Amino acid sequence: MPTPVNLTPQLPVDHGFRHRLLRLFGSRCLVCRERAAAEHALCDACLAALPWAGAACARCAMPLPTGDGPCGACLRRAPPLDAVHAAFVYGFPIDRLLPRFKFHHDLAAGALPARCMAARCAGLPRPDALVPVPLHAARLRRRGYDQALELARPLASRLTLPLRDDLLQRTRATSAQSELAAVARRRNVRGAFACGQRPAMPAHVALIDDVMTTGATLHAAAIALRRAGVARVDAWVCARVP
Ligand SMILES: [Zn+2]
Ligand SMILES: [Zn+2]
Repeated sequence: MPTPVNLTPQLPVDHGFRHRLLRLFGSRCLVCRERAAAEHALCDACLAALPWAGAACARCAMPLPTGDGPCGACLRRAPPLDAVHAAFVYGFPIDRLLPRFKFHHDLAAGALPARCMAARCAGLPRPDALVPVPLHAARLRRRGYDQALELARPLASRLTLPLRDDLLQRTRATSAQSELAAVARRRNVRGAFACGQRPAMPAHVALIDDVMTTGATLHAAAIALRRAGVARVDAWVCARVP
């Protein structure tokens, strides 16, 4: 099973040239095409609309009216994740940016979510490693691009945390979770992840993914990591679908 690699070649960027272009033409909001400050990639209105997460369950990031105690579902059945942190509740304009990032290889659309995740996660207990939720090799070949890895890379460098995309593999191709109901989602990803034989796993890792819906994928990944000896598994996601 080969280690997933990003197949999109890194293009050299001439920052001076890009800067001169932006000065000439201004920059456009990635969501609504209004004029935007170049450093944000969104216009003021879209920036103001960012759906930052508020009070939420500490175990699953489900929005709650108050506090950060566990939600009813996590109380009834403790999830395999110790903590989940979401920068956003899934909604406008994140619901426009993330699909562009995920399905259209639009790296600019991923830069802002990664920056916001870094800002939100900077004060959290520091894991020993960031582990992007891997795609199966066949899907990576089709898509040419792994959005969890592309979020994890800038996060790791901003927060000076080790990026370990070698710890976890997706051993089985699965159907797209978005097409399935909750129970089918769990069945779809059960046993889909594995850790190779390693002398030592880090004690504490944070899984990185773009969107958490039911949590089935993150839970399956967390179970594989725990089986391999990781004591604490958190998840840091860009957006939580309530
Ligand atoms: Zn806008
Ligand atoms: Zn919960």
